[in-house]
Amino acid sequence: NKPVRLQKFLAMAGIASRRKAEEFIAAGRVKVNGTISTAMGQQITPGVHKVLFDNKRVEVREKLIYILLNKPKGYVTTLSDPQGRPIVTSLLPGIKERVFPVGRLDLDTEGALLLTNDGELAQSILHPKFEVHKTYEAEVKGLPSEQTIRSLEKGILLDEKKTAPAKLRIIRKNNRNSVIIITIHEGRKRQVKKMFQMVGHPVQSLKRLAYGDLGLDNLAIGKFKILTKNDIKRIF
Ligand code: URA
Repeated sequence: NKPVRLQKFLAMAGIASRRKAEEFIAAGRVKVNGTISTAMGQQITPGVHKVLFDNKRVEVREKLIYILLNKPKGYVTTLSDPQGRPIVTSLLPGIKERVFPVGRLDLDTEGALLLTNDGELAQSILHPKFEVHKTYEAEVKGLPSEQTIRSLEKGILLDEKKTAPAKLRIIRKNNRNSVIIITIHEGRKRQVKKMFQMVGHPVQSLKRLAYGDLGLDNLAIGKFKILTKNDIKRIF
């Protein structure tokens, strides 16, 4: 967040016009980090300085933004990486808001990754209560039997806890691998890979296709789009 002058900060927060805000400052009604500030133009960094107006906290809310990225393999979904690997937010040129990924994708997983600065929406998408479905395309080793597919759908024991019901559909196979569409609504760590590993069909390649009904459509790998309110509705 870029620093702005105190009167502008108050205006951005909706307290008053910049002109009026200057009067409030002069009148000693504004405190910065606990001290009355009567100096015009003190630099305020939103989210860093604590500003009070008539002893009430003043905050500038960032515009909420929702982004869908088609994550390439080889990018981490954390916001920093001690090993210096590329970070997904580096694929968002021109986005000034501080967004974070909603859930994670493994380094070697590609596909739909939602990023936002809306903590509440992120929370709802991730909370099991809302049962947001996530759909993946997994290329797995071998050809899982009907019985194996059914057991994955019903739920298998994973880390001592049964997985919630899932939907699976084999869409392609050759004599070595099968490509399976799997829809789950939990988001345990490496869940898809672990589920297939457990039944003896390790994942060779994984791609997230959609959150709910919000899919990648024609979004190319490494590209992103800013989502509309209607796009967001398709998630739930
Ligand atoms: N399940 C996995 O195993 N990996 C991912 O990246 C996402 C879901």
